[in-house]
Amino acid sequence: MTDQLLLWPEDEPGDRLTWSLSRDRRLKECSRKYYLQHYVSRGGGGPRASAESREAYLLKHLRNRYMWVGEIVHEMIELALSAFRRGDSVKVDALVERGTRRMRAQYAESIQGVYREKPPQACGLIEHEYREEVPREEWKRQRDHMEQCLRTFFELELVARLRKTPPWRWLAVEALASFDFDGATILVKPDFAWRDGDGVDNQVALVDWKTGKARPEEEKEQVAVYGLFARRTWTKPGDMLFGHVVHLADGTSSTFTVTDLDLAEAEGGIRASLKEMRALHAEAGAPEPNRAKFPMTEELAFCTRCAFRRLCRR
Ligand code: SF4
Repeated sequence: MTDQLLLWPEDEPGDRLTWSLSRDRRLKECSRKYYLQHYVSRGGGGPRASAESREAYLLKHLRNRYMWVGEIVHEMIELALSAFRRGDSVKVDALVERGTRRMRAQYAESIQGVYREKPPQACGLIEHEYREEVPREEWKRQRDHMEQCLRTFFELELVARLRKTPPWRWLAVEALASFDFDGATILVKPDFAWRDGDGVDNQVALVDWKTGKARPEEEKEQVAVYGLFARRTWTKPGDMLFGHVVHLADGTSSTFTVTDLDLAEAEGGIRASLKEMRALHAEAGAPEPNRAKFPMTEELAFCTRCAFRRLCRR
């Protein structure tokens, strides 16, 4: 899952909430950031937006270089999988070349500040917006990381297996979807899902490609939320759910069963998160929202990489 869920339209106070794991994590990281991202930025792309709202709208569309590489890798993998599905062959060198061209074009867009005119469409990097000194070698390392991730992808035994799986067994490739839960809309975007099993149709596998460090607890939680969607959409009672989390930097992976207990815990987590979000939603909808209800994080490490640090004035 990349942060593309950012681009989903925001809910208005009084409306039904849309919940995603990235929204939940943002709130847990910093309530003020959550407020700027989901409320102050609202309408910030419109002609009558206030200066603060316009600024929040611009800043919320920025990403750092690690998120950016993750997006490019996911985009290239999506292209490869779509080609495999059509029965076309794809060469890893060609995909790496395409990823490199894309990174160069987006880097140029960012350094020229094109995103200030078109925040949702053009790539904007936090490093450029805040004029951070990032050595040329570091940008090159990011390109090399993209290449490494794509080469790992092509060598995976899992991918060889997918290529032999008939397309009718494929269920989703980077598909943004939603389901209803507790009066809210839950957004999910599994990287890949397919109906697994030799000669049997009672197994659904959910795959997540990771380009960053391994975070086993978060990864299991994420797959369990996808599992809630899979249970409602692709499985019948008794079917089994599996998660495959693949770390593309080094090719390590973990495969696990998504149990009914995992799903129940995920539901409990969403329910608790929605309760907290609803209380804040009511506050944000007040004529004069009290910002003290959206306190700044105490973890200063979060601030050093936060896109909103200028607007937040910490
Ligand atoms: S700069 Fe720090 S306190 Fe301010 S919004 Fe960002 S994470 Fe929160």
